[in-house]
Amino acid sequence: MPKKRKNRGRKLSGSGHERAVHCSACGRLVPLDKAVKITRWVSPVGGTIGRDLERQGAYISRRLETRYYCVSCAVHMGLVRPRSYEERKVARPLQSRGRGRRRTSSKVPLKFMKF
Ligand SMILES: [Zn+2]
Repeated sequence: MPKKRKNRGRKLSGSGHERAVHCSACGRLVPLDKAVKITRWVSPVGGTIGRDLERQGAYISRRLETRYYCVSCAVHMGLVRPRSYEERKVARPLQSRGRGRRRTSSKVPLKFMKF
């Protein structure tokens, strides 16, 4: 049977079972090696208020937050995107930046972009 992906969409390499984690957006149980892991610095005071306070000299401590998303939510949020047959061969997929969506100002195709 033909396979869409060499690794069947998972990072499972020889290990039989991976523990499941809950998706941070919808709560679905996803195997850890299949889930999209996003780690970013999060400020407790977000938005314009936090920016204004920092501009005035206040120190706002940030904490590292790791979230796991199921593939459906990751695609919906723009963290990953379905890639064509050729683009799927690129080992390192699209990395999230900013607020989850990558801002592509240039019209360079994904396979020619440097990650
Ligand atoms: Zn989800």
